[in-house]
Amino acid sequence: MTIAPAHQQTILGCSLCPRLCHHVCPAAHGAGSEEGTAWGLMTIVAAIDEGLLPASQETAEALYRCTDCGRCTAFCKHGNEVGAVLTAARAEAVSSGHAPEAVAALELELEGIRSDEEQARADHLRDRHSADGATAFLAGAHWLESDESAERLGQLMLLLEALAAAPIGLLFEGTDGSSGATARRAGFAELADRQGAELATLAANRSLLIVDCPDAAAALGAKAVHLTRFLAERADAVAVTCAGLAPATIKLHGGCRERRVVNLTNDELRLLAAAGLTAEPLLDLRGEPECCGGEAIYAAVWPDDAARAGRSLVKRTLGCSPTATSNARCASHLQRFGASETFAVIDWVLARCARQESP
Ligand code: SF4
Ligand code: SF4
Repeated sequence: MTIAPAHQQTILGCSLCPRLCHHVCPAAHGAGSEEGTAWGLMTIVAAIDEGLLPASQETAEALYRCTDCGRCTAFCKHGNEVGAVLTAARAEAVSSGHAPEAVAALELELEGIRSDEEQARADHLRDRHSADGATAFLAGAHWLESDESAERLGQLMLLLEALAAAPIGLLFEGTDGSSGATARRAGFAELADRQGAELATLAANRSLLIVDCPDAAAALGAKAVHLTRFLAERADAVAVTCAGLAPATIKLHGGCRERRVVNLTNDELRLLAAAGLTAEPLLDLRGEPECCGGEAIYAAVWPDDAARAGRSLVKRTLGCSPTATSNARCASHLQRFGASETFAVIDWVLARCARQESP
């Protein structure tokens, strides 16, 4: 393995550090050991880099024991970027043929290959909401996961069109466009470059893309707006559709990665308030959002660890309290471990707009 000199400071600094950030690391909760901490990960990268550990599928697996939540970097006095080192190390593992099996399987998903059911849902939605339109919504792949989520996407398209007072095209992340950020973090550098270029072309042909991926919003700048921000900027109109509903207080589990890429906390609070919900953000003592372990790559390679990290967060802070999450994936991950009243921010808003009180 050849790691760029720019990363050597992080590798050396972390592998010699007395594990100062271990208590903030969700992967440490997941593994129940120090292996998943920044210290553990950088020690493994250093050992592979120096030839002390063989470059193999087994050692490569360890490189995926991180959710890229960035909590260690936020805590670190040196701002060490553990995620950037792992991205580089994973790209080496993929290009040398040592990617773990679960990661190789993930590549198909990242390419936008859909099951027959998902394709049927996409076709049905496209029949009702065409891909055309100067403004288009690029919907994340999770909207096609079930009949219920596809139905909510149809509901969301009607809300977007009402708020914009214009037709809005419907596109799907994966097949129509993707920021490439997940592919890059998984180690598929070429795929990531291709997806990034395709997304830029797609955006160039529209006046605006509404996206529900923070990475796409950050990559496209003024050509894109995050869905949450688009709705929050029209909060007064959203409030009209929710008027008369009983006010309630819920918790807000803000996405850890999301917050680093595009900070949407204020938009989320405003949007939930428009739906009559007062949200209390769940932050640790240092004002950082916690990480649930539901991140796609980590959960694919280390499902048992991801389950333990999710259970730990539910036990420590969520319980069964009504909770909104920034990210639909985090919501379903936490639901699986007992947080039965946890739904994505957008699902709370859609349910309230449809006057169901809760999703
Ligand atoms: S990220 Fe900072 S605090 Fe954490 S192990 Fe590395 S040097 Fe230590
Ligand atoms: S990015 Fe998050 S999961 Fe990864 S080592 Fe740092 S704290 Fe742990």
